[in-house]
Amino acid sequence: MIIQATAVLADVPVETLRTDAIQTFLKQETIVVDIVTDDGAVGRGYSYTIGTGGTAVLALLRDNLLDRLIGRDSRDIEAIWRDLLFSTRATAVGAITSLALAAVDTALWDLRALRAGLPLWRLAGGFRDRVPLYDTEGGWLHLSSDELVKGALASKKAGWPGVKLKVGKPRPGEDLERLAAVRAAVGDDHDIMVDANQALTTAEAIRRAKLFEQVGLGWFEEPVPADDISGHAALAAATSIPIAVGESLYSISHFREYLAARAASVIQVDVARVGGITPWLKVAHTAEAFNVVVCPHFLMELHVSLVAAIPNGGYVEHIPQLRALTRAEMEIADGHAIAPQTPGLGIDWNDDALDDLRVA
Ligand code: MG
Repeated sequence: MIIQATAVLADVPVETLRTDAIQTFLKQETIVVDIVTDDGAVGRGYSYTIGTGGTAVLALLRDNLLDRLIGRDSRDIEAIWRDLLFSTRATAVGAITSLALAAVDTALWDLRALRAGLPLWRLAGGFRDRVPLYDTEGGWLHLSSDELVKGALASKKAGWPGVKLKVGKPRPGEDLERLAAVRAAVGDDHDIMVDANQALTTAEAIRRAKLFEQVGLGWFEEPVPADDISGHAALAAATSIPIAVGESLYSISHFREYLAARAASVIQVDVARVGGITPWLKVAHTAEAFNVVVCPHFLMELHVSLVAAIPNGGYVEHIPQLRALTRAEMEIADGHAIAPQTPGLGIDWNDDALDDLRVA
């Protein structure tokens, strides 16, 4: 039985300047939830933003959600998730609610895995213990072509199978020049993905996709606004480049609509933004039914275990997120992220660092 549930907010400084076509990472607001049961077990979950809304998530948890956990059986994760969602119907479906639900849900899964004595990747499915990794950290939009090439060559040398580059420069030719420079440097035997962060119109996205096809891309991510399913469907029908979406979708139904419309062929469901591990797995299994691969957005320290759990997992995205809040980093070997083998979520929190970076 749950006897205590608390939430804190920590601000983690960004490790490097991160820019894309629409925004800059300001900081990593990290919302951490601890759930304590009457037998003394503690589950810890988390959620995040890249700079705004963290205090709103914290307020929703403290004012409306955490009290509802007291007295519940921590194993009843589906019932708790549904109850919390329905208790916030006035603000759901939406990002703030999903981020708050995720912090609770991941803590409950941590408890479940600790009790089972299993690592998350095995508890949640158990498909493989490592997954391929691609780097985003060397592909930000403000970097020069030379810097992009340098970053891509470094990750290739380290044995990583792919990189992602931001696109959305004012002129299409400038995007193409940058992509072509990286392709020339890394050769054909390396995946290059691109991400426009919803910056383009559908017509412009179709125009650029035609240009980009000569580069041989792994996917074209968030080419147009994420709520424009028909725009994505039109683009997907017009190009041979796989279309990737998911980081800006907040419920399982949104993913169903995309999949049913054949508007996306890479699903990037984000465990925080979709509301936790419970809905994440439902999206992943729905994608499997459509023969679509799942390559989640960000949160590599948690997504490594989830991608390892499912048969239709693809890449994990390399952007270190929790380095400042943990004692051990995600293990990387031969271009793969290694799923933690310890029971629970496998995140080795540093409570002193969490205290230091706590702002609320
Ligand atoms: Mg993206």
